[in-house]
Amino acid sequence: MIAVLKPGTTDQQRDSLCEWFKGMGLQVHVSQGEFHTIIGLLGDTSKVDINLLESLSIIESVKRITEPFKNANRKFHTDDSVIDVGGFKFGGGHFQVIAGPCSVESEEQIVGVAKRVKAAGANFLRGGAFKPRTSPYDFQGLHADGLKLLSLAKQQTGQPIVTEIMNINDLPLFEDADVIQVGARNMQNFDLLRELGRTDKVILIKRGLANTLKELLMSAEYVMAGGNERIILCERGIRTFETYTRNTLDLSAIPMLRELTHLPVVADPSHGTGKARLVEPMALAAAAAGADGLMIEVHPEPERALSDGAQSLTPDQFDRLMAKVHKIREAIQA
Ligand code: PEP
Ligand code: MN
Repeated sequence: MIAVLKPGTTDQQRDSLCEWFKGMGLQVHVSQGEFHTIIGLLGDTSKVDINLLESLSIIESVKRITEPFKNANRKFHTDDSVIDVGGFKFGGGHFQVIAGPCSVESEEQIVGVAKRVKAAGANFLRGGAFKPRTSPYDFQGLHADGLKLLSLAKQQTGQPIVTEIMNINDLPLFEDADVIQVGARNMQNFDLLRELGRTDKVILIKRGLANTLKELLMSAEYVMAGGNERIILCERGIRTFETYTRNTLDLSAIPMLRELTHLPVVADPSHGTGKARLVEPMALAAAAAGADGLMIEVHPEPERALSDGAQSLTPDQFDRLMAKVHKIREAIQA
């Protein structure tokens, strides 16, 4: 980090600022120009409050050289992290598809979808048992019963389960879940992230509706700071001024995140568009953009779905999408 002092800063003011930095365990290098003094800071500057520093009367400007996300940063971990879930790998060239309904609704529904998406090549089964719904009057999920139904489907297909947690008190119910999803609305639920950092579960963190990539990486950092480094990031669209689509799937987030972090990045074109007919083109585009995987909502009868029917593919549509995804993967690997 570099701090430029205003002309006219006294030696005493400069020295007391340097002492403050040293008190934070930082090494301080002062270079005195004709008008400006520049202070270079070495060490873990993640604890320096850049806004506080900028607000000081003697500071002209501050520039962070190293990003505040240390554990997630590719600079300190140049190889891709490969996240292995029951033998299925994300990252480092490995590509996985997570598919299933928005919500777990019944045994017939979840087991039926699980078999279909597995046959099409999705190694992971998704399904929400705790649903973050905008309206309290909408279907909220089957909770513990939903998780039991996911386990039942897993017993039949062998697919690892991806499912969302909303409240850390529910964690004991997630014992059989292989990947715990932190949804867009909870991306900055820091208490939840911190607690998940103490678990040994793989955590899939979805980008918040109005969050920057840096904020997403800082959320990953919360989990990693607790000792859990097994994280998958998910671009699921952000809110923009556009209204034809539910969200705007930020495809540039995929190569940008892959540059910034070693963590695998998957894309969710279902929530990213909100429209079933747009899911396939955006899934293909995300694969072409270098995503490490996809998350796709599939329902046996989308018109009867208890949540997100409009963006859910039928199993037949999913079969067709998977055939094309494989072709895109081959094309970009060539
Ligand atoms: C979901 O995956 O069904 C979900 C609610 O996702 P998001 O948090 O991205 O809205
Ligand atoms: Mn959904």
